[in-house]
Amino acid sequence: MSESNPGRINQKSQTFSCPSCGGRMIFDPESQNLKCPYCDSEKPFAVSQRTPNEYDIRYAPPVQDNAWGDDTHTVRCNGCGAQIVLTGETTADFCPFCGAPHVLEDQSKSGIAPESLIPFKITKPVAVEAFRKWLKKKLFAPYKAKRMAVLGQITGLYLPHWTYDASSVSHYSGRAGHYYYVTVQRVVTGPDGKRRTQNVQEQRIRWSPASGVVSNVFDDILVVGSERLPAKMLSSVQPFDLSRLVQYTPEFISGFGCEKPVVDVQQGWEKAQKIIDREMTRLAERDILTHADVAEVTHLSTENSDVRYKLLLLPMYLSAFTYKNKLYHVLVNGQTGKANGKSPISPWRVLVAVLLGLAVLAGVLYLYMKHQNSQIDMNEYHFYFSMIKDYLAG
Ligand SMILES: [Zn+2]
Ligand SMILES: [Zn+2]
Repeated sequence: MSESNPGRINQKSQTFSCPSCGGRMIFDPESQNLKCPYCDSEKPFAVSQRTPNEYDIRYAPPVQDNAWGDDTHTVRCNGCGAQIVLTGETTADFCPFCGAPHVLEDQSKSGIAPESLIPFKITKPVAVEAFRKWLKKKLFAPYKAKRMAVLGQITGLYLPHWTYDASSVSHYSGRAGHYYYVTVQRVVTGPDGKRRTQNVQEQRIRWSPASGVVSNVFDDILVVGSERLPAKMLSSVQPFDLSRLVQYTPEFISGFGCEKPVVDVQQGWEKAQKIIDREMTRLAERDILTHADVAEVTHLSTENSDVRYKLLLLPMYLSAFTYKNKLYHVLVNGQTGKANGKSPISPWRVLVAVLLGLAVLAGVLYLYMKHQNSQIDMNEYHFYFSMIKDYLAG
């Protein structure tokens, strides 16, 4: 493993020009080559097979100029502030995050270069199809919003992620609980309707202090380097097959672009430490449970050593559309085609569904009563009611 900082990548502009017609070549997810959108010429490019470097966090590099390759430049959205790294002379017509048309050249330095990435595997038409299918299933989305979403642009964009490795040791303290049983008297009503006292066994917990040490080795804790999209939405289109990581070279982002990380290496590490502490707490609880019935960890202090990081890019198709002054996002995983997002809800569609649900409920109850010719069993009633409630919620 190299101790050196992510270096400068020298990349001349000619890399991207088509040998046949001089047009600007872009990365083609189907062939995994550079492809000319004008004459369909293809040009393979060298991909390094070496395992991506991971860098020691104690020597996190200073912000560098052109670290992403000489042929890249950064633009900034006037609407939401997103910074996007593009190759060659490409400009963005609109912001993929908020749809704003004002995207300007940004002079700030490009920061730490990504070490590796997962190339786009899904083509744009396939992503649009996945997006349409997902939207079709959104029963409560207003028709107009569905139409706008489909008409809206869908952009392929790499999103930055940090990974962290660490060797962690935690000292913990808390308490260990052991079950024991006591006999108590309780007043019960028998089948004859008469009340009487009965002896019952009740579970109690006897607590005693507990402390110890647990250790773990973490590999590739993934922290998103973007704050523009909710982490929950991002994780809803995961997983990515990280075994497909390749070395970063600007050819991969030609025609796509990449969001510049807004979470820096130290902020990302803060987030990773929270993930580490959660896992270490779980391990401490498990440690207590080897000699107890219940565990509670009240204090945990973790020391992390041999902390290494790398910056990687994950492919994502992104659609942003505004409906009634609210911004909605839909994501399609650029490696697997998995789609998810948020869509507006039409109150009318919900009302119709509720009325339909009530009609079905009434029908079911009617048939049931007719069939049984008896009183309604409340359990049965709850069963159908929750079934319909689940249907409406789902
Ligand atoms: Zn060409
Ligand atoms: Zn924007």
